[in-house]
Amino acid sequence: MQVPDIIIAIDGYSSTGKSSFAKIIAKEFSFLYLDSGALYRGVTLFAIENGYISDDCTIDVPGLDKALTGLDLHFGEDGTYIGERCIEKEIRSLEVAGKVSPIATVAEVRSFVDMKLREFGKERRVVMDGRDIGTTVFPDAELKIFMTADPMIRAERRAAEMRAKGDDVKIEDVLKNLQERDYIDSHREVSPLTQAADAIVLDNSHMTMDDQMVWLRNVVSERFGC
Ligand code: C5P
Repeated sequence: MQVPDIIIAIDGYSSTGKSSFAKIIAKEFSFLYLDSGALYRGVTLFAIENGYISDDCTIDVPGLDKALTGLDLHFGEDGTYIGERCIEKEIRSLEVAGKVSPIATVAEVRSFVDMKLREFGKERRVVMDGRDIGTTVFPDAELKIFMTADPMIRAERRAAEMRAKGDDVKIEDVLKNLQERDYIDSHREVSPLTQAADAIVLDNSHMTMDDQMVWLRNVVSERFGC
């Protein structure tokens, strides 16, 4: 399929499989894949390790804002990095998952991440997933997808993924975490998670990845005539 030079923005609730879908799209269309959540998770890990967020999620906003200017957070061969250090495993922990949504409410953090994402998106041929890609980061994205799925199905999928990586998690904890994140993400003041008016909804509760790709190819061929 000959896809034109476009930006594909995938937003939606936590653990709806946005990144797995985006990665496959990137592979099939030879697009660059960008995981915006990984950058928020990276900032969160940095904040935890350097004392900018406490156990009860109180954030030292001025301190963190200042420190961000020197933070070398980027993507590399094995995922997300701070400087030379690959932080891919640490940023997927429940501890980071429990603090990332409060961190992502901070306007200064959002500007830091947005700046990086827009830089990557300059080239087009990009598929990016997150919560505000189609509404704030790339409001002019040519294709916007809003993903949703039944919460219990999402929790089961995420728990299976974490167990496969050796994390012994309880389904109730995973479900609670994703519901809390959805709530904070949808209710924050800056760039809340909402469906863009021109986004197409994809509820993948009962879809396989192959079903989703069939759906996507139809959407792309209808919209772009390819
Ligand atoms: O996508 P992922 O679950 O890894 O994102 C982690 C968290 O980062 C989300 O729960 C949300 O709080 C935040 N996020 C955001 N805006 C984005 C991407 C992620 O606020 N564009």
